[in-house]
Amino acid sequence: MRTNGEFTVKMRLGLMGGTFDPIHYGHLAAAEAARYEFALAKVVFIPAGQPPHKPEQTVSPAVHRVAMVRLAISSNPYFEISTMEVERPGPSYTVDTLAEFRRLCPSAALHFITGADAVAEIPAWHRFEELLGLCLLVGVTRPGHSLEDLREGLTGLGAELRQRIRVLPVPGVAVSSSEIRERVRTGKPIKYLLPEAVEEYIFRHGLYI
Ligand code: NAP
Repeated sequence: MRTNGEFTVKMRLGLMGGTFDPIHYGHLAAAEAARYEFALAKVVFIPAGQPPHKPEQTVSPAVHRVAMVRLAISSNPYFEISTMEVERPGPSYTVDTLAEFRRLCPSAALHFITGADAVAEIPAWHRFEELLGLCLLVGVTRPGHSLEDLREGLTGLGAELRQRIRVLPVPGVAVSSSEIRERVRTGKPIKYLLPEAVEEYIFRHGLYI
C-alpha cells in the first residue's frame, strides 16, 4: 500500500474472469479499457476451471485455454495470468477466487471484470452478496449489445449491492468465443479476430473442428 500525504492509496487490481475458449481481441480490448478506466495496476486473467453454470456444456481442456491466454497476453506488461481456478478442484466459484486474492493481496482493491451478460446473472451466482463485498464487479459490453438485460438482471438487488457493480462499454471488436468456434467448425477465417499466435495454436491443436 502506498501512502500519499494523509491519504492512503490502495493498489487497484483487475481480475479478468472468463472461460476464454478461446481468448480473442474483444477480451483483450476489454481488459485494457478496464485497466485504463479504473486505473488498475495490473490485470490478472483467470481462466475458469470448471464454469459452475456450464456443467453439461463441453469446454475445451484447461491446458489449451491457459496456453492461449498466455500467448495472447505476452505483449502487454500489465497483463498476467493466474491458473488458480484451473488448479482448484470442483466448480470455479468466483467468490472463492476473490477470497483467495483477498488473502494474497489484503490491501488491494479488487476489480473483478467479466462480460456484462455474465454479470446480469449475478443474483444466481454462488454467495453473490459475499462476492460483492470482496470486489467491485465490472461488466464489459461488446458493441451492439444493449444494457437492458443487465439492468433487468439487477433490478432485484438492493441499492447498496448495485453500487458495487459498474458497466463499461468497450469499443472495438464485436466478436465472441462461440462465434470463433463456429467459424472454425465451418471453415471460415478467424484471422484478425484474435492474436495470430492464438490462431496458430487453434489450428496446430485441431481445436473446435
Ligand atoms: P459466459 O456465460 O460464457 O459468457 C457470457 C457472456 O460474457 C458471453 O457473451 C461472453 O463472451 C462474455 N464474457 C465472458 N467473459 C468475458 C470477459 N472476461 N470479457 C468480456 N466478455 C466476457 O461467461 P463465462 O466465461 O462462463 O463466465 C464469466 C466469468 O464469470 C467467469 O470467470 C466465471 O467463472 C464467472 N461466473 C461465476 C459464477 C459463480 O461463481 N457462480 C457463475 C457464472 C459465471 P465470450 O464467449 O466471447 O467470452
